[in-house]
Order: sequence, then structure tokens, then C-alpha cells
Amino acid sequence: SAEVVLVGRSNVGKSTLMRELTGHTFDTGQRPGVTRQPNHYDWNAEDFVLTDLPGFGFMKGVPDEVREEIKDDIVAYLETYAEQILVAVLVVDGKAVIDIIDRHSGPDEIPHDVEMFHFLRDMGIPVVVAVNKMDKVPDRDERLDALCDRLGLLPPWKQWQETIAPITAKRGSIDPMTEAVRHHLHEQQRDDL
Ligand code: GDP
Repeated sequence: SAEVVLVGRSNVGKSTLMRELTGHTFDTGQRPGVTRQPNHYDWNAEDFVLTDLPGFGFMKGVPDEVREEIKDDIVAYLETYAEQILVAVLVVDGKAVIDIIDRHSGPDEIPHDVEMFHFLRDMGIPVVVAVNKMDKVPDRDERLDALCDRLGLLPPWKQWQETIAPITAKRGSIDPMTEAVRHHLHEQQRDDL
């Protein structure tokens, strides 16, 4: 069945967002690396499945090889189900994402978030970047423009509202994300006609 997937580094607020979207309670701040399997939920009244993929990237107390396995599993899942995945939501921490990307950018290194963004697009899956924790970001426009720049999208970010969705999951203010996702769902339904 039609599916929307959530991906993101650990601790970006993916569980908090899942709780808002599904009404289920999730263990937030769960021991990282414990959730290893994709989990499927109904997105409230919407007619598709929401899949929570394990968090990737650095996790305190999780060995490198486990981290690599987790990432390989995520990639394998996305490759296997690409046909039925309508939209991917890449959740990032708005407060930290630019620093993390810049710290991991180099001649031999692509930051996880940037790599995942391009990987999903290369597979033909529309991506919504849910920029979470915006309550902690004072220089909102600057930060979102910088993120566009790092993802290869020409700023200003306001041109990319179907892709860049600033949210504060903790307070339930997630409308930019749900609107962006709906936009892509409608586009695809139109293509199917
Ligand atoms: P996950 O590891 O990605 O599932 O992240 P969690 O949902 O467990 O959240 C990690 C931490 O970020 C928790 O302490 C949350 O309370 C916090 N958090 C989640 N969303 C927000 C938000 O919108 N704003 C702020 N300031 N903190 C948040």
C-alpha cells in the first residue's frame, strides 16, 4: 500500500513528530539504536501507511559497525519499496543541522543528511525536509536559507515550501510539513490520472 516514510538522524525529534502524526505514544529519548526495524502506522484519517525508519548517524554508545548496519538496512528498505513510497520526510534538527553538515563536509565525506536527501531524490522519491526544533532557532530565515544552500537548492527557502518545512514538533506546530506532504501526494495522484 501507499507509504510515506520518515528518516533522520537520531535525536532530531522523529518520535515526537510520529506521535503528533499518529496519536500513538512513542518512547521519546529512547535508547538510541534500539529501534532497528521499520515500524508502520496509520496516519490518522489519511489513506496511507506512515513508516518510521530507524535513526541514523552518530549515537552515543552504539558501535560504528552497528551504525553502518543500520544505515545499510535503511538504504535497502528504501530501494526495495521505492515504488510504493510516495513521499519521504527527512527530519533534521534546525538548531544543529548546519553545523553538523559543515563539520562533515570534505573532499572524501558527504554528510548523512545531504547524502540521504540526494539518494531519495535520485530514486524518484519526493523529499520534504522537516526542519524541527525551530523554537530554538532565532535567525529563522538565515538558517533555512543556509540549509537550502547546503542541499543544493537556490535560496531563498520560501521558494521551496514544498521541500523545506520548518516545524516545532514538540508544540504540535507541524502544518508546513503536512501541507508539503499533501502537495506531493496530490501531484502524484494527478500524474496517475
Ligand atoms: P528521535 O530520536 O529523533 O526520535 O527524537 P525524540 O522525538 O526522542 O526527541 C529527541 C529530543 O528532542 C527530546 O528531548 C525531545 O523532547 C526534543 N524535541 C523534539 N521535538 C522538539 C522541538 O520541536 N523543539 C525542541 N526544543 N525540542 C524537541
